[in-house]
Amino acid sequence: MNSVATSDTAGNAENQADLVIVGAGLAGLTAAVRAAELGITVVVLEAGRETTYAANSRYSGGVFHIAFQDVHAPPQTLTAAVAQATAGYADTALTEALTGNISRAVRWLADHGATLGTGGDLGFMKNMLYPYSLREPGLATHWPDKGADRLLTELERRLNAAGAGIVRGARAISLAMRNGRCEGVAVHRDGCLETYSASAVLLADGGFQGNPNMVRRYISPMPESLCQRGAGTGLGDGIRMALQVGAQVAGMDRFYGHVQCDAALSDDRLWPYPILDIVASAAIVVDSTGRRFTDEGLGGVSIANAIARQDDPLATFAVLDEKLWESCGKQFLLPPNPTIEEHGATVHRGADLSTLAARSGLPADSLASTLETYNQAVRSGDPAALDVPRTSRDSTLGRLPEVISTRDMVAIPLCAGITYTMGGLVIDDRCRVIGRDGRPIPGLSAAGATTAGLEGGPASGYVGGLAKALVHGLVAGEDAAGRVR
Ligand SMILES: Cc1cc2nc3c(=O)[nH]c(=O)nc-3n(C[C@H](O)[C@H](O)[C@H](O)COP(=O)(O)OP(=O)(O)OC[C@H]3O[C@@H](n4cnc5c(N)ncnc54)[C@H](O)[C@@H]3O)c2cc1C
Repeated sequence: MNSVATSDTAGNAENQADLVIVGAGLAGLTAAVRAAELGITVVVLEAGRETTYAANSRYSGGVFHIAFQDVHAPPQTLTAAVAQATAGYADTALTEALTGNISRAVRWLADHGATLGTGGDLGFMKNMLYPYSLREPGLATHWPDKGADRLLTELERRLNAAGAGIVRGARAISLAMRNGRCEGVAVHRDGCLETYSASAVLLADGGFQGNPNMVRRYISPMPESLCQRGAGTGLGDGIRMALQVGAQVAGMDRFYGHVQCDAALSDDRLWPYPILDIVASAAIVVDSTGRRFTDEGLGGVSIANAIARQDDPLATFAVLDEKLWESCGKQFLLPPNPTIEEHGATVHRGADLSTLAARSGLPADSLASTLETYNQAVRSGDPAALDVPRTSRDSTLGRLPEVISTRDMVAIPLCAGITYTMGGLVIDDRCRVIGRDGRPIPGLSAAGATTAGLEGGPASGYVGGLAKALVHGLVAGEDAAGRVR
């Protein structure tokens, strides 16, 4: 860490607020605008310096959904969808807080500058931020001036109009505690150490996907072999700071992300879209020995997690036949077929299995045996009984198993794209951070991708990052305002 000068700023009026928020993504800005409109003073600390500082919220595709269901569906329907997506892993109280608040939260957002509308034929796309993208490959055109980018700008404008604002270039590094209560945050800004004091502190810094040491410890032996499929600004600071003052963490081993082609690691035109989730779930996904290592039926988020856990995540392939590549490869909003090849990614082809094996470097005998076992299980109708089960769950980003032909075959080198981490700080249904003694740490809350309890688990269940950030932000802002007043 660089040495920094200490600036005695704690006594300055602008360094004091009822609520200090770390991170100006959707969670932080929602909490800030809501708390300010409820009459308490707010300061938002943001590590990014630019006007349009990088954040996953800004890069997002802007689809508000809960486990791929319409956010205005009855709460019981949404609760059941969360339980199904996470195979029962999601905490009940946190799920009910999410599903019980999402409809009013989305309406609140629409009243506070969000332009929302239908973005496609799929049922979960009824509440997308306008204008939306998801139809163009690569990062360069994905976010600038799109709905999520505009939303953050609009929330900041409303925050400023309420007399509050974002302090840019302010990276929070530690929490100030007195008698077990959190009373402020120390930040590095412009080479100085500054202190912000507050009655309540909210951590909304977006997870730890951008911290290679933490990713190595919890998610993948080779973080450098994962494609950072997002802003990469989640550095784990909130989790680290809260751990230092006695917080609990959970579910740190799972992330939300997608299956990408390996070229996405070095080519910004190939992420965040197109993704290969549907293709990978229709294929067999194998390692360099030609063996399957994961249940493709759990869908792309789960496959991406399994790829990341491999000793060499870049030595993985989706193996399928040309017919499946022509059908599954051409599905979803921005189909990978032919986009990835048009942008220079490798797709190995072979008229038969041995040619494909020679071209891709996969061992022919082992690949043939894997495929034969897989096809037999699919034909017999019981692929879930395989040593590495292949379950059958028809889902938005997955496919039912089909026999894969050994003629006209395709092998696509894969890469795991990591968007945000699903685990983190344990919170209660009011977003209060829970300590190792099982009780809330006074004055400390957390929201959005830095929290645990809703997503992940053995099925790497994905519930929806924007919905989580929005509801947490709203609930945390209201809770802080209620306590301060
Ligand atoms: C390409 C892409 C597409 C997506 N599409 C969707 C979608 O369609 N639907 C959906 O539900 N989800 C989507 N997501 C996920 C969603 O964007 C995130 O889950 C959500 O925005 C997280 O919000 P957040 O406020 O918790 O974190 P973030 O948006 O990551 O904000 C955290 C902020 O904290 C700042 N920060 C970090 N450390 C510090 C520190 N120490 N001090 C001060 N500031 C700090 C960061 O700079 C950042 O601005 C997508 C994500 C990406 C990248």
